[in-house]
Amino acid sequence: MPKAKVSEELCIGCGTCESLCPKVFKLENGKSHVIAEECIECDCKGVADSCPTGAISVE
Ligand code: SF4
Repeated sequence: MPKAKVSEELCIGCGTCESLCPKVFKLENGKSHVIAEECIECDCKGVADSCPTGAISVE
């Protein structure tokens, strides 16, 4: 299964990823953090595409 990563430098804490996939992304201290070992319900690419700053990468 793919795994998502968030770039702390690029993330602006908009919350889009958390609202789209709260099982994988969680906002803390104004930045998004990946809280799941692996993407669970989708491959996270749709969430990555929705990030306004391109902070999410999926490997
Ligand atoms: S969608 Fe992108 S910029 Fe917005 S909180 Fe998530 S990682 Fe950060």
